[in-house]
Amino acid sequence: MSTQRKTIIAGNWKMNKTMGEGKDLVSAIAAATKGKADLPEVVVCPPFTLIHEVAEAAKGSAVKVGAQNMDYRDEGAYTGEISPVMLTKLGVTHVIIGHSERRQFFGETNGTVNLRLKAALKHNLVPIVCVGETLDEREEGLTDAVIRRQTAASLADIDETDLETIVYAYEPVWAIGTGKTCEAAEADRVCALIRATVNEFYSKGEGPKSSAADQIPVLYGGSVKPSNIAEQLALPNIDGSLVGGASLTAPDFVALIEAGSKRVKLTPSGA
Ligand code: PEP
Repeated sequence: MSTQRKTIIAGNWKMNKTMGEGKDLVSAIAAATKGKADLPEVVVCPPFTLIHEVAEAAKGSAVKVGAQNMDYRDEGAYTGEISPVMLTKLGVTHVIIGHSERRQFFGETNGTVNLRLKAALKHNLVPIVCVGETLDEREEGLTDAVIRRQTAASLADIDETDLETIVYAYEPVWAIGTGKTCEAAEADRVCALIRATVNEFYSKGEGPKSSAADQIPVLYGGSVKPSNIAEQLALPNIDGSLVGGASLTAPDFVALIEAGSKRVKLTPSGA
């Protein structure tokens, strides 16, 4: 494997866990990773209500805390929203942007994904930008067009120097929470397509390609579990995992982190 890119294992808890449960889960993950060498970057994204408690419990450990979404404005009359300023004050370091459930159920568009991405960068949050096709789009042969469109739209008016902070996640909508995993080779191909799209976006005509684009970590997400992660991470274009269901129990999530550690060992500068 030739990549120098970071390996990231990120858990999206979605609307699960209450106070106490979240603390127990992150404490177990922190304990299991304590003192371990070759760890990937480990991120947990609890619901907003648990961020404070989880961040406190994760202090001093390798576990970083992310949010599942955020507004793109700093403050104001936006009832029910949470701003990047609020998140950074809580110790949040990462934020998931444009998850398909946000696109599907909460009106997120390519335009608002771009606004959120800019806001994350402005506040030094690491954005994990999700792109992925629906089942209908895949069956109509539109996968590549959708991926290219979502990826390019997310980058509007973003400076190439910001690429060193951005993370993408390929999350085929039909594989999320369904138990249907995208074949590893196909996930690898689409992860490469995302990076190539970023590359084209910043390439000037026939001029040099963007070397920053080559360094962007691209994760795969969609029914990742301990039994299938190894074959995904063995491929050159998949730099880690964004995980829903299997991030909700410590034994499963720790097994995924261990699979990430194996990739780090093979690519020592990729930790
Ligand atoms: C997700 O929510 O991003 C996800 C990939 O969920 P699951 O692992 O449950 O498919």
